[in-house]
Amino acid sequence: MSGKSRVVFQGGYVWNGKDNGRKLADVLIEGDRIAAIGEPGSLDASDARSIDATGSTLIPGMIDTHGHLSFPESTSSSASEDLPPEETILLTMHNAKRMIDAGFTGVVGAGSPKLRSEVVIRNEINAGRIPGPRLMASTPTLTATGGLNDSGQMHQPRDVAALVVDGPEEVRKAVRLCYREGVDVVKLNVSGDDFFPRPHGRLTTMAEDEVRMACQVASELGLLVAAHARSAESVKRCLRAGVTLIHHTDFCDEEALDMLEAAKDRVFVTPTVGFYHGLLNAGFPEPMIERMMVRQCFAENVATHRELKKRGLRQLIGGDYGVPFMPNGTNARDVEHLVTYLDFTPEEALRAATYNGGLVMGLGSGHITRGALADLVLVEGDPTVDATLVADTAKLKVIMKGGVLHKAPVASQSPALSSVSENTLVGAMT
Ligand SMILES: [Zn+2]
Repeated sequence: MSGKSRVVFQGGYVWNGKDNGRKLADVLIEGDRIAAIGEPGSLDASDARSIDATGSTLIPGMIDTHGHLSFPESTSSSASEDLPPEETILLTMHNAKRMIDAGFTGVVGAGSPKLRSEVVIRNEINAGRIPGPRLMASTPTLTATGGLNDSGQMHQPRDVAALVVDGPEEVRKAVRLCYREGVDVVKLNVSGDDFFPRPHGRLTTMAEDEVRMACQVASELGLLVAAHARSAESVKRCLRAGVTLIHHTDFCDEEALDMLEAAKDRVFVTPTVGFYHGLLNAGFPEPMIERMMVRQCFAENVATHRELKKRGLRQLIGGDYGVPFMPNGTNARDVEHLVTYLDFTPEEALRAATYNGGLVMGLGSGHITRGALADLVLVEGDPTVDATLVADTAKLKVIMKGGVLHKAPVASQSPALSSVSENTLVGAMT
């Protein structure tokens, strides 16, 4: 045995993220990894800090793969442009804490309005100086002139929340620049969006050679590529060019569905149904809902994602949390939304929230198995039958990231407390 900190979860159930069914089992953590899983009482854990998991279920930490930690929770699209870099960084820091407080041990950025705000917060989290999830820092959205997030006007140039790029060479330069500045994810706006004045979501705004260049350079530099793609044509361009993470995919036609199915072992899709649920339940005036055609878009999104589920696509939770009617930290509501709207079982929805997100991040999280990262949440009750539990932070008894306790029952009688890291103690008190 090394000098590594040891924690053992005892007396509770384990749902491993990948397989159906929860089992009574103890789980031993050593350092940042899951060291052993065994029958209750079977593990040698004499010097480990013991956590009583009776009546609870240990699941992998949740992962939001379409995060906007730098959004200032405004319905105005210019709010994030107007916010100075300094405030944006503080906001990102506060939202990172809200995410891990809500049981999210992983977030994949989906467009950071300021180039380095997610980068610097990721670095601070990784250094252990501030609390937060594992964060894959995103570029600002790369968009074509006139595309989503290009809100510039000729008479009034502004600092838009995007990198406006036209032609493969500008895309190449932008991806390389963002790599140099430290990002992990390249975010492309390939289609428009129905909730902005223009272009709407059925328009495809980024050319295929531009998407292809982004994927080629990102692949060479080891970056993930994620795309905003609502129109059928934008989905097809993403698939032909090699995008890994495709958000929304609302308006798929039969050809787009077939192409997604053919790529199902390579790509991931984010339904983002929570955003529609939020729009329809936030008390917006009916004429506005009608003008934005929210119900029609929602119906198409639901039809597409029910079909993609049948075809075996790997779906994810998250999507545009970071607005007033769905602030950061409430993202786990998506687990229930997948059940309510897309015919998921609670276990399938939890898998989208954990295991599938772990595959996207590629770090070895999202799965409770020997050797995996100890990113874990202990949920009171049985979240494999009640999809609402994970959204209730009072039910999240323990939150652990990389073996470090972020939230835990008040440290007490444990004989091993002295072996727990300082971070652990700080985390346990927050
Ligand atoms: Zn988004």
